[in-house]
Amino acid sequence: MASVKLTNVKKVYDNHVEAVKDFNLDIADKEFIVFVGPSGCGKSTTLRMIAGLEEISGGTVEIDGEVVNDLQPKDRNIAMVFQNYALYPHLSVFENMAFPLRLNKKVRYAPLTEEQVSNAEVEIKKLKEENNPQNEKRIEELKDLIANGKRVKGFTSDEIFDRVTKTAEILGITEYLLRKPRALSGGQRQRVAIGRAMVRDSKVFLMDEPLSNLDAKLRNQMRAEIILLRKKIDSTFIYVTHDQTEAMTLGDRIVIMKDGYIMQVGTPTEVFDHPDNLFVAEFIGAPKMNTFETELMIEDGSYYISPLGAKIKLDDEKSEILKANNVKSGKVIMGVRPEHMVLADGKSDDTIECTILVNEMMGSELHLHVITENETKLIVRVPTLQLTTEQRMNLLSGEKVYVTFASKVVHLFDSKTQVSLLKK
Ligand code: ADP
Ligand code: MG
Repeated sequence: MASVKLTNVKKVYDNHVEAVKDFNLDIADKEFIVFVGPSGCGKSTTLRMIAGLEEISGGTVEIDGEVVNDLQPKDRNIAMVFQNYALYPHLSVFENMAFPLRLNKKVRYAPLTEEQVSNAEVEIKKLKEENNPQNEKRIEELKDLIANGKRVKGFTSDEIFDRVTKTAEILGITEYLLRKPRALSGGQRQRVAIGRAMVRDSKVFLMDEPLSNLDAKLRNQMRAEIILLRKKIDSTFIYVTHDQTEAMTLGDRIVIMKDGYIMQVGTPTEVFDHPDNLFVAEFIGAPKMNTFETELMIEDGSYYISPLGAKIKLDDEKSEILKANNVKSGKVIMGVRPEHMVLADGKSDDTIECTILVNEMMGSELHLHVITENETKLIVRVPTLQLTTEQRMNLLSGEKVYVTFASKVVHLFDSKTQVSLLKK
């Protein structure tokens, strides 16, 4: 059980860099949260403040309702996996994973085994039958043992063996337990590093770009493994990445950051379908959303946009929201995702005339880079299956095409504040 709460968290480094400006977030128990944003936006700094590796300049970090600002990292019950998962080269995989357990000398209460419990119960029964008042103390002791477990310091060799082998099994690295790290592939080493963090019963699992050292194919594979792993580990995860695909596929919720601020928090679907601002709109989704300035008009109570020579009536739902938000006519920034733009048969009121710059064949789809008459560059994603061979042959650089889109896929942002005009 571990919830994590950050309230007005700030970090100012000694060189006066304000790495994190005002971070507020409630992370639920067992949630998988991803911090995503461009390099330098404060992701690692935030993570390191949660771990206790970086002093907090302002605000509070709570784990399970307890403020941990002044707690040592080792007392926070947190496991962390870094990008450069430094393993000890002279130790076997087993010993690498056992290391944090051997290091742990904390006094704790270990639950009794089933056998120990039943022995204790037999003893209590016997003592009671003797009917001797002097037995009372021992009976209380035994009851306490059953209820709370045995007081132990650190982990026994049996416990260490048990934990390491179980973790290795979950991660599929059992057969490498006796190898040294140099005899492993990058992906296997990464799994050992994750295993080393897993062997402790951590309440919170922090991962800072754990896959960024891997090649693209392995990264895809490890991403899938992390999704599976997450189902097996009963823990709260906070995962940092600069890669929006990783964020979208892994996160229950995504926190999109920029310059030390949170730009939006939401589920992958929420941030993709309803970006709060232009930054999130352009950051989430690949290739990125097409955005350009356009005129928003009101005619007979209905809203219209006039992008690049076309005129498109907005659907009722959007018009209602714009009305409710008291949006006036004037210049706005609009956005349409490349996969929401489609090729039209020819010129009409709601099409935009474009010239093809580049046709990128991606396999299952084409990425058409086009330019409009007023020199706005757009990308159109066309599923290859929708085209006949002849149509495909004609999509050559320099050719004219007509592009259109449905009004329901349009995003609108204030041209000054860049905040969404369609926020409910
Ligand atoms: P991210 O992980 O999102 O790439 P970081 O949290 O590492 O970003 O860094 C955020 C900002 O803080 C950057 O401008 C970075 O240069 C600065 N920074 C990071 N660590 C330190 C440090 N130890 N001392 C001073 N400035 C730092
Ligand atoms: Mg970082």
